[in-house]
Amino acid sequence: MKKRELKLGAAIAAVAIAVSVAGCAKKDAAADKQEQSAQAQQAAYGTWGVDTTQGDPSVRPGDDFARYANGKWLDTFEIPSDLPGYVSFTKLRLDAEADVKAIIEELASNKSASGSLEQKVGDYFKTWMDEGAANAAGAAPLKAHLDAIYAIADQDAMTRALASVHMNGPAGFGVIPDPADTTKYMAFVGQAGIGLPDRDYYLKADGKFPAYRDAYKAYIAKLFDLAGIEGGASKADAILAFETKIAEAHWTQEDSRNIQKIYNPMSAEEIEALAPEFNWAVAFDELGLSSVPTFLVAQPSALDTEAELFAAADMAFLKDWLAFHFISNHAEYLSSDFDNAKWEFYTKTLRGVEEKRERWKRGVNQIDASLGDAVGQIYVQKHFPPASKAAMDGLVKNLTAAFEERLRQNDWMDEETREQALLKLSTFEPRIGYPTKYTDYSSLEISNASLFDNALALADFAWRDQIANLGKPVDRERWGYPPQTVNASYNPLLNQITFPAGILQPPFFDPAADAAVNYGAIGAVIGHEIGHGFDDQGREFDEKGRIRNWWSEASNEAFTAKTTKLGAQYDAYEPLPGAHVSGELTMGENIGDLGGLQMAYAAYHRYLDQTSGGEAPVIDGLTGDQRFFLAWAQVWQGKYRDDEVLQRLETDPHSPPYFRINGPVRNLDAWYEAFGVTAEDDLYLPPEDRVRIW
Ligand SMILES: [Zn+2]
Repeated sequence: MKKRELKLGAAIAAVAIAVSVAGCAKKDAAADKQEQSAQAQQAAYGTWGVDTTQGDPSVRPGDDFARYANGKWLDTFEIPSDLPGYVSFTKLRLDAEADVKAIIEELASNKSASGSLEQKVGDYFKTWMDEGAANAAGAAPLKAHLDAIYAIADQDAMTRALASVHMNGPAGFGVIPDPADTTKYMAFVGQAGIGLPDRDYYLKADGKFPAYRDAYKAYIAKLFDLAGIEGGASKADAILAFETKIAEAHWTQEDSRNIQKIYNPMSAEEIEALAPEFNWAVAFDELGLSSVPTFLVAQPSALDTEAELFAAADMAFLKDWLAFHFISNHAEYLSSDFDNAKWEFYTKTLRGVEEKRERWKRGVNQIDASLGDAVGQIYVQKHFPPASKAAMDGLVKNLTAAFEERLRQNDWMDEETREQALLKLSTFEPRIGYPTKYTDYSSLEISNASLFDNALALADFAWRDQIANLGKPVDRERWGYPPQTVNASYNPLLNQITFPAGILQPPFFDPAADAAVNYGAIGAVIGHEIGHGFDDQGREFDEKGRIRNWWSEASNEAFTAKTTKLGAQYDAYEPLPGAHVSGELTMGENIGDLGGLQMAYAAYHRYLDQTSGGEAPVIDGLTGDQRFFLAWAQVWQGKYRDDEVLQRLETDPHSPPYFRINGPVRNLDAWYEAFGVTAEDDLYLPPEDRVRIW
């Protein structure tokens, strides 16, 4: 669905973006050598895979490993003026944008039949790029929609508007596999209704939050003004006051990722009883959800209060509220006045970005998000060599084997829980490069006439595409994002780990790099994704993706004791003065990073045992283990603007890149040995304080 982003909670989100992978598969030594000489040109970074000139040699690795590895880069790299930050993913994303643009232009230049993929991609991009037409249209594309909002005459029509895919309302909806039986689909209902990134933006009295709220009011007033609706300033006051009450009822990000808290299966009747002030039957009818037997209601108390707030609000106010969000949700498809106003607020003010991105880049991002599979099929042919898939297959196998071995040797799990964990690991399905089935866009209509109408058509299509699943067996083949995506993911409901073509490039994955580098980079990312199946939320799901407690009490206690210690370490990290990492919000990702690095380290040594009697060469004076950890640090080389850091601390389940480097390494004994870290060093943790989970 379009702007109604579902906060499914990390545990349930089918596609949580966040990890990367680097790898050097467990090929046999001969094949490895052959590959190295074939590609003997050079690794993409430095001579063996890491650019060691980006570090700060004056810093002791044990004092600050992130600075030791990336200090010069951190001091000198300037974030491009049109971006909120820059991490190693960013460079690959910029490359992919250019690659996808070339594909779009190629498609658009073909004289293709109406209804073909070429026509849809080509016409969407053409209408997007025609800024002149958007400017000439001004606010005109809004008129019929705003007229319809202001003509709403009864409660049922209001409910339909509040449920509409194109509008905002008290709840967000989606279709997901049923955590009680993951062969079937169910519907999801979650809290919604706010225009700022999180409840804290309404409620926090300190720091920049009051200024963000003032800017939000100015933005609301500005959009009303641009749309020719009077009284914007007072409408803005009322909207902020209303959304502040919604925010008070909203659950925190921490609670919203807690599967035990958000797993509330309910029938439609039970939802009616929970929040009777909202007419759910009408809303479900509007959305095509009337025949759904069970809904997962993520935040029941928030929906209860929201239903009351919306019922108590007067009709004239709700029309203004709907109108504002409709304009805001679609501002980028209007004239540059609207587009600039939205950018000024959401990107410049809330993320600290200085300059708007070039229009073609934003157009490519839109195609990736809504027509991504159409270009993805061609992207894979052009940019994903079959050898990369083979190498990744080997890497994933070696990582899985390393994890299995660690599970067997694990000293805190009892036998019955260990058996269950091994069973779950055996059902993991790796998906590498590209999907076996792409999105079918045949029912989507895109014309060369109107960007605004095309954008609405894409939102309608995305929703129809979701609800078409209802009543059918769960589709395990589609991915939910296109192969050019620079990311990786784990889906706990289907036990699938996914590594799209977009991320299988340096610095994550480089066939010409030293093995230590591929294990420390993509290897640790593979380990991270596998680790999500066993993180604080993933472990609540079983080998069939069902929510089921397969933990003995003793193993559960041992796990919780470890993760509590890990959470306390991250709680202490303070990226900006007074702004701390939330150990609870980032728990799953931190467990993924720590476990992933552990697994990758073990897999690297398995690889060495199999290929060179356990010995790694010394290269440039660095041991294999040193290169392994430097590769991890290179993958998380990155920085964000301060506003972006704040927003991520509120909303992002991942720790900032700096702490993704220092946080895990100080818990690994091998890192202490590799760099001679002692009790004199700042990152030093006594062995009993190091957290070893997997
Ligand atoms: Zn992750």
